[in-house]
Amino acid sequence: MVKENLARCEEKIEAAVKNSGGDPSGVILVAVTKGVDPVFIREAIDAGVRHIGENRLQEALSKFQGLQEYATGKGIRLSWHMIGHLQSNKVREAVKTFDWIHSVDSVSLAAEIDRQALKAGKIQDILLQVNVSKEATKYGLSAEAVPAAIQEMSGFKNTRICGLMTIAPEVNDLEEVRPYFRLLKELLIEINQLTNHRLTILSMGMTNDFEVAVEEGSTMVRIGRGIFGER
Ligand SMILES: *Cc1c(COP(=O)(O)O)cnc(C)c1O
Repeated sequence: MVKENLARCEEKIEAAVKNSGGDPSGVILVAVTKGVDPVFIREAIDAGVRHIGENRLQEALSKFQGLQEYATGKGIRLSWHMIGHLQSNKVREAVKTFDWIHSVDSVSLAAEIDRQALKAGKIQDILLQVNVSKEATKYGLSAEAVPAAIQEMSGFKNTRICGLMTIAPEVNDLEEVRPYFRLLKELLIEINQLTNHRLTILSMGMTNDFEVAVEEGSTMVRIGRGIFGER
């Protein structure tokens, strides 16, 4: 089941990339495993998943060791992605656990990540979460605030800003999300023109909307239900 679902998602990603004239190998699929029993996560790993996304630190920690051992036993290297809101008192543990933190939504959080990454002797890859739809219920910097925030982070030596992440609003007609994805891509281009950063990652697209996101230039899709079924 997991294997078939994954294959279907990969086919859809490939088709969406072709629609937009991009490179299919340029899209990383992050399997979102919140609420998923490790039995099924192992199935996903066997089927080729290498990127694991969790939105709560505690839940990630409860699965981390077992899955790492499973993967290592097969000579597989997993990448762990923190995709949910992160509180500053959990940063130390998060930096130890995750290869990527997608949900950096303030300069102060980035500062704490930088501090903890220095202590851990690590360069932490991060993405800035942008609330492109300006929904009050969503975390994230406003698009307007991102260039200044990046400027403020320019002294951080142990964080590498790799790109931008967004969560699109829930809509009835998928075409309604397209402008939000387009806006994030335009913001990335603008930042690369205005600053000496070379942001390459656009983390956008979930089960409901990843095809549109890929058509609009997503390089990282975060898919949960599309692989593991309804939570
Ligand atoms: C849960 C979650 C996803 C995956 O959502 P699905 O609809 O299951 O694909 C992606 N991104 C974030 C930030 C999430 O919390």
